[in-house]
Order: sequence, then structure tokens, then C-alpha cells
Amino acid sequence: MDDRCDVEVVVVGAGLAGLVAAAVAARGGASVVLCDVRAAGGRARSDQREGFVLNQGPHALYRSGAGVDVLGRLGVGFSGSPPHPAASGYTEATGGLARLPTSAGSLVRSPALGLADKVRLARLLTTLPKRQGASFAEMSAAEWVASLGLSSRGAGVISALTRVATYAGDLDLVAADAAVAQLQLALEGVIYLDGGWQSLVDGLVAAATSAGARVLEGERATALQARTDGTFEVCTPARTLQAASVVVATGSPAAARALLPHAPAWELGAPATAACLDLGLRRVPATMVAFGLDQPLYLSTHSPKAHLAPPGGAVVHLMRYGARTSPEDKDQLWALARRCGIGERDVVAQRFLHEMTVCHALPRPGPGLTGRPAIDATGTAGVFIAGDWVGPVGLLADASLASGEAAGRGAVEHAKRQQTNDSAMVGR
Ligand SMILES: Cc1cc2nc3c(=O)[nH]c(=O)nc-3n(C[C@H](O)[C@H](O)[C@H](O)COP(=O)(O)OP(=O)(O)OC[C@H]3O[C@@H](n4cnc5c(N)ncnc54)[C@H](O)[C@@H]3O)c2cc1C
Repeated sequence: MDDRCDVEVVVVGAGLAGLVAAAVAARGGASVVLCDVRAAGGRARSDQREGFVLNQGPHALYRSGAGVDVLGRLGVGFSGSPPHPAASGYTEATGGLARLPTSAGSLVRSPALGLADKVRLARLLTTLPKRQGASFAEMSAAEWVASLGLSSRGAGVISALTRVATYAGDLDLVAADAAVAQLQLALEGVIYLDGGWQSLVDGLVAAATSAGARVLEGERATALQARTDGTFEVCTPARTLQAASVVVATGSPAAARALLPHAPAWELGAPATAACLDLGLRRVPATMVAFGLDQPLYLSTHSPKAHLAPPGGAVVHLMRYGARTSPEDKDQLWALARRCGIGERDVVAQRFLHEMTVCHALPRPGPGLTGRPAIDATGTAGVFIAGDWVGPVGLLADASLASGEAAGRGAVEHAKRQQTNDSAMVGR
């Protein structure tokens, strides 16, 4: 059945970016329809398994990141707790675990490092908040780590911390401006959310719908066409939506390209992928947080810090930065789990996600953060993009939330300009 619908703004994709764009456009006074081929939330959706709430891989909200400000402006609240403060460094070659410094204070106690590294790293961790990330855009994060003059052990520690902050498996592929800024954010603190990231999704759906946006779940946008009168048609199998402006927030640049009326000339960085093992456990593991030093591995216990598990239980996320083959990655993650005190008998619920895209395009060394496509880099006035590979602000969800807000504003302004032009034509 072809149901026609005429609105000011259509948003395609109801992940964090699309939900924010729809809420901002609706609050700006526009009539808005938002469609998603699946349920709202995208990669931020959480699932319930046997009483445990599992995010899709480890998710932490950067307390001082741009995303928190966007959520605040939309009145979306959340609660949660910081991670367990003691982290261990895991060396796969030896199977060893050693206390890892994550702050200037914990450096002194770490047996993982020699004195010279401790002095250099202490200086780095205390001066990092004052460093200007933008001046590092030309070099890669790997070159930046190499420039610090650390031993290979010290470089391994700072590389592990940078990987955890950026989710980049290969530090050669991410610009140092983005990496240093993200490391600064990570040191300022992250929050594990009560109820999982679903709480953000639910809050954003409420913000969008209470402002009047209509959310269509289970509807794929199959075409986006520019009409001769300056408006657009977005087609789904069920209806045709006519709009003055459109936000394409489809997650991946490939899905966005497939819809745009003109092929865009984007130069994109490499994606960051991960293999994730999400566990619901009967008990809290002996080692709560571990970062791989000779392999890009990570383990973190998200509850009981955040409310995600039944009493006495724990949610633990393990991840390999840079997904390879499913059996190889799963075995490697289970070896880390065992080393941290987790046995098969502790497991109540588990899920292995063999290849997740954490970020669709990392900022490239050279142009850095400012080299990512802008929200209006679509080749068509009135069509905007948003996602974790768009705009000059932040990484990961911060980039999705910030570009979603900017695209929502841009879409309302374009729609209002169109209306003014149309009224002027009629008045002539
Ligand atoms: C393992 C993992 C760990 C992460 N950890 C963190 C973290 O700790 N901190 C952090 O800040 N970020 C983290 N992230 C990143 C964060 O989850 C994402 O950046 C963010 O959720 C992306 O939101 P989005 O709206 O840009 O894209 P998506 O969530 O991908 O949403 C895109 C939506 O568009 C829909 N869609 C696609 N094509 C169409 C179409 N043609 N028609 C209709 N709908 C369509 C999809 O169904 C989807 O719902 C992590 C991601 C992963 C995978």
C-alpha cells in the first residue's frame, strides 16, 4: 500500500545520530518522520538475557564528551557509575597480569614499569589535559606514542590506554589529534550506564516523540529522490514521504552513499572493528579490568558498578580491537577471561559478536578530526548526514550525537528557508 505523507523533515536511521536529529528538528518546530529498518537504537540498543542487560560490546559514556552536552540540551537524563579503578595489564605471551597505571597516582605502585618510564608517563598523564590535540593532526597515534621516548614496555602501556580510549585496533590508522583528545576525555572519566545504553535510546525516543516526531520502526528507506520543486521523496516499501529536508543517519557511509541523490566525494579513514564477548556471570570475577599489552585485548566488568545484573551477578565485556576470524578471536577472548578468573561454570548468559563496527571511519592522520565529511557534504542542498564518521567533533557516540544535533538544526533551517521562499513566490 502506498501511503503518501508530507512533512518538513525526514530522518533515515534511528540510531543515536538519527534520534537526536529527529528530536532537535521536532523541537525546532518542524513536522518530522523518522524511519528505521529495525527497532530504534542501532548499535546503542541493549538486550535482556536471563535477567542481564547486555550492551552490544563494552559501552562507556565519556563524562566530559560532546555527547553528554547534547543529551543535556535535550533533557535526556541517565545514571551510572565509573569503572572499577584498578586495571591490570595482560601479556598474552606469558599469560601474566600486572597492575596497570591509569592515573598519575597509580603509576607509583605499578610493578609493570621501570623508574624512567614512570617519570616520563607521570609527566605525560599530568600534562595531557593541557595539551592541544589539534596540533597533532599530521601524525598518527602510533607516531605520537613513538615520539614520547618510552621503553617498549612503557609504549605498550600508553598504546593500550590509547586503544581503550579510541577503540582503534591499529594506532597507525588514527590521527593523533583525535587520539590525544580522546585519551584526555578517558582520563577525565567515563560512566557505565544503569540499564545499559538502552536508557539513552529510550530517553531519546521519548524526547523525539514528545516533541511530535513520528517514529516508523521496521521500515527501510529504499530511495531518496530530489524533486524539481526543491523538495525530496523518501520511499519505503510501505509509503512515500515527501519532505523539505532529509537527514541520512544510516550508520555506515556505504548505506548513506546508496541513498544520496549525488555521489559524494568523501575521503574516509579506516573503520574500527571489534570482536566482542558479552557475558552475564553468577559472580564477580577476580580481576575486574584488564588491558592487553602485547595484544589488542580488553576485559571490563560493567556491573555491579552499573545496574545491569541480578543481585550477586556481574556483566563482563571482553573485546578484541580489530576483528579477524570468529574462532580465532573467540578463543583468544576466552583465554583472557580464564586468566581473569572466569570459568565456563560462572556463565549464565553469553553472546559472541564476531565483527562489530565500532566507528565507521577513524579520523585520518593528516587532516585529522577536521578532515571528516561535514553534515552538509552531500552534494545536495537540504540533504544532511550524521554519524560517528561525520563532522569535526568527537569520536564514537560523541560524534554521532554531535553531528545528529547539527544535522537536525541544519534540516529545520533549510525547511524554514524553503517555506519562506515558497511564500515569497506566492506573494509575487
Ligand atoms: C562494540 C562497540 C563498542 C562501542 N563502545 C562505545 C563506547 O564505549 N563509547 C562510545 O561513545 N561509543 C561506543 N561505540 C560506538 C557507538 O555505539 C556508535 O558510535 C553509535 O551508537 C552510532 O550511532 P549511529 O546512529 O551513528 O549509527 P547506528 O547505531 O549504526 O544507527 C544507524 C541506524 O540506521 C538504520 N538504517 C541503516 N540503513 C537504513 C535504511 N536504508 N533505512 C532505514 N534505516 C536504516 C540502522 O538499522 C540503524 O538503526 C561502540 C560501538 C560498538 C559496536
